[in-house]
Amino acid sequence: MPADRAPHPAPRPRQHGSHHRLLRPAQTQRDRRDTRGRPGTGAAEKFNIADHIRELTKGDGGAKVCSCDIEDVNTFHSSYSINDRTRTFLKVQDGCDYTCSFCTIPMARGISRSDSIEGVLQNARELAANGVKEIVLTGVNLGDFGKGFEGGKRREESFFDLIRQLDAIEGIERYRISSIEPNLLTDEIIDFVAASKKFMPHFHIPLQGGSNDILALMRRRYRRELYADKVARIRKRCRIAPSA
Ligand code: SF4
Repeated sequence: MPADRAPHPAPRPRQHGSHHRLLRPAQTQRDRRDTRGRPGTGAAEKFNIADHIRELTKGDGGAKVCSCDIEDVNTFHSSYSINDRTRTFLKVQDGCDYTCSFCTIPMARGISRSDSIEGVLQNARELAANGVKEIVLTGVNLGDFGKGFEGGKRREESFFDLIRQLDAIEGIERYRISSIEPNLLTDEIIDFVAASKKFMPHFHIPLQGGSNDILALMRRRYRRELYADKVARIRKRCRIAPSA
C-alpha cells in the first residue's frame, strides 16, 4: 500500500485543547519502558497507527504505548511514496541482522525481512501504471534482501535477482539503489548496474571508518581494502573519471 495513502484519514489526537506529541516508532520500540508518559506505537503497531490515534482521541487523554517485544516483529509491510512527482521511494526490505556496535537499529526495527521479488515487481508495475518514472529502492540493509528467517521460514531470494527482474518492467525508466553495505555490494551487482540502461550508476556505500582496527571494533563486516576495491571496480566499470 502506498505509504501516504491510509485507507481512512487519521484523526488528529488532541488533549485538553492541545496536540498529543506522538513518539516516533523507533523511539517507542527502543524506549518503551521509559516513554515519559508520551503515547506511541512500536515497530509492528505503527502500521495500525490510524486505529491507535482514533482510540487516543476517544480516551481519557492518558498516554498509551502500543509495542510488542522486538523479537516478535517478523513480518514485512511494503510501502511506497506517491504524489505529484515522477520519482518514488519503494521499501523492499526492513530490519537488520547485523550487530554493529554503535547502532540501535536492530533493537528498534527488528530482524531483516523483505518483500518477495514478485511483490516488488507488482508494486513497480502499479507505480508505472500511475505515471512514476523513477524508483529508489529502500531498506535498512538493502543488500540483505530476500535473506534470513522470517516468520520462522528461511528466505532464499537475492537482491541481484531482484534488480535483474526490475530492469525488465515496462514504463519505469530509472532505478536507484538507496544505500548498500560494502560487503553486500557484489561484483555482479556493480557489473549489472554498469551495463543497465535503467539502473543509475549511483552508489551510496557507508564507510564508517578508514582504520581496520576501528572497523573491527565497530563490528563492521569488511576491511578498508574491500571498500577500496569496490570503489575501484565502480570507477572502472561505470567509466567514472579518477577526479570524479
Ligand atoms: S548494518 Fe547498518 S543498520 Fe545494520 S547494525 Fe550495522 S549500521 Fe545498523
